[in-house]
Amino acid sequence: MKIFDKLYINGQWQASTGSQHAINNPATEQPCASSPLGTENDVVAAISAARAAFPAWSQTSAQQRCDYINAIADGMKERFNDLVDAVSITMGCPKNMTVDLHINSSIDGLRSFAERAFMMEKIDDHGGFKVLKEAIGVCTLINPWNYPLSQLVGKLGPALASGCTVVIKPAEQTPVQDFIMAEIVDKVGLPAGVFNLVSGSGRKLGATLCGHPEVDMVSFTGSTAAGIKVSEAAAPTIKRVCLELGGKSAYIITDDADLETAVNWGIEDIMINTGQTCNAHTRMLVPQSRYDEIVSLAKAAAEAIVVGDPLDENSFMGPMASASQKGIVLDYINKGLEEGARLVTGGTDMPTGVDCGAYVKPTIFADVNNQMAIAREEIFGPVLCMIPYRDIDHAVEIANDSVFGLSSAVYAKDSDSAMAIARRMRAGQCFIQGSFFSTDVPFGGYKQSGNGREWGDEGMSEYIEVKSIICP
Ligand code: NAD
Repeated sequence: MKIFDKLYINGQWQASTGSQHAINNPATEQPCASSPLGTENDVVAAISAARAAFPAWSQTSAQQRCDYINAIADGMKERFNDLVDAVSITMGCPKNMTVDLHINSSIDGLRSFAERAFMMEKIDDHGGFKVLKEAIGVCTLINPWNYPLSQLVGKLGPALASGCTVVIKPAEQTPVQDFIMAEIVDKVGLPAGVFNLVSGSGRKLGATLCGHPEVDMVSFTGSTAAGIKVSEAAAPTIKRVCLELGGKSAYIITDDADLETAVNWGIEDIMINTGQTCNAHTRMLVPQSRYDEIVSLAKAAAEAIVVGDPLDENSFMGPMASASQKGIVLDYINKGLEEGARLVTGGTDMPTGVDCGAYVKPTIFADVNNQMAIAREEIFGPVLCMIPYRDIDHAVEIANDSVFGLSSAVYAKDSDSAMAIARRMRAGQCFIQGSFFSTDVPFGGYKQSGNGREWGDEGMSEYIEVKSIICP
């Protein structure tokens, strides 16, 4: 049982003025950790510390910030097993899978921002006029529970590299890796006030975190509903707001694609992390002419997935991250049945071999119409909707008929054909021919999936102001 009873503010572990919050292991439904429910006073103290630290930190050299970021990444390597346990135990991702999906990718992702610190020293010359880059200031970083370390690093990396100071608010269910990161930062000797951590309820602390006049920028990842509240709180003080929100992404498989490879990629993509991936391609758009064949391939691939204890090295899917998330997913499965979709596999029963925990079976619905709630709303669980299409124009029309635009995917005969379709998808990313996520390129959504970008140079730009020097 991990008990964190202090918050990290101004380079010190400080008692919170709030109560303790118990965190359950979703596989056992037993408490596995606890952390403070920070209060408004805690948030204000953290913002003041970040404000006080900003002038000196923003004037450090790029080399100093690069060295600090690399030292934090080294510290993450030293605490590797603790980070794996933190993510696996609190959100249920199988331990074997957590190693690369959550931890190694986060360490590499953080390091990618070390070199980007030097972007800040580059002065653009426009015919004698100069354009400089400066850190935007004090940033609030708010994250959800589904990729808790990676989402933290995708914000912390560019914030530190650009010279910003931060107040971090992890999700209530998964704060443990953030506390470990605070311990690492403390050991590395990052100047006091640069990194501040306040755990607690987003609903209660959101107005202060996002509305306080001493905060310059808010980077938020979470649901579209909470993103709207964040924007409203930030609006009166005209803060920059970077939103990374929900999705209902489409995956087009063409009739001349290598169907087995295409379908296997699609099933793995949706079921990985137990379906709790914001850019999972949860609507599989399938040519009518090969529908039955593709549904059979999908059923076989889903039924081959091993669901079980996160500590079992054979498990591909663990439990949902919480009992409440399981409840939401089961409600959607029932809704799909009521709407008349055909249940191909899965459903609301417990998977074979488990009798407690927040488990849900890999579930596939066929004969889904894009107007059904299960095709329009984000389920955030291992539930795939298979939607038939007549021709590519029809497929693209269905793909883009969504309020979301986070991601998209295409599997066609070859890369050139896939690329032609990718250009027509209204989403911030398109995975073609079974490719995988990379932190080297920008990630973010169109439409109600958000307005910002994380990772890559564009992810860094969110934390930067530009200043023009008008020369004589
Ligand atoms: P959530 O919106 O309920 O919570 C996310 C975070 O926001 C938590 O830390 C929570 O405490 C905080 N929060 C809640 N209300 C707030 C408010 N009014 N003001 C400020 N903060 C508030 O989302 P969740 O259920 O934790 O996460 C799942 C959602 O996150 C899904 O919609 C998923 O698609 C989305 N997500 C998006 C991305 C992306 O990069 N686009 C990545 C991962 C998850």
